[in-house]
Amino acid sequence: MADTATTTPEARSEAEWRAHLSPEQYRVLREHGTERPGTSCLLAEKRAGTFACAGCGQPLFEQGTKYESGTGWPSFFAPLDGAVETTSDRTFGMVRTEVHCARCHGHLGHVFDDGPAPTGLRYCMNGAALRFEPAGE
Ligand SMILES: [Zn+2]
Repeated sequence: MADTATTTPEARSEAEWRAHLSPEQYRVLREHGTERPGTSCLLAEKRAGTFACAGCGQPLFEQGTKYESGTGWPSFFAPLDGAVETTSDRTFGMVRTEVHCARCHGHLGHVFDDGPAPTGLRYCMNGAALRFEPAGE
């Protein structure tokens, strides 16, 4: 999908983001929303390929790091090098580690330390924040 926006993702205003994203994508990426579990079509995505940021297209996760966590959100045990950044999130009376895109800073989800080997991490992502790009297309 060609990026037709005139502004680079790093410099977009909130109005430009609103025009660029679907309402659900905007709610997740820009307002730190969480999609309802079990609703993402990416849960069943098994083809080889890459999961990219729905905001700016930066590749974030490879299919080989995706696993079935049973949570209802697409889950990965490792991101691509340098693709994501984390911050401490103290909303809802909990301390969680928020994960966002390193390029456009769009909110992706959270990371927990109850994931599988080799990392022991569970990147619990909102499917609305991701775009799947099949290998070889
Ligand atoms: Zn991004």
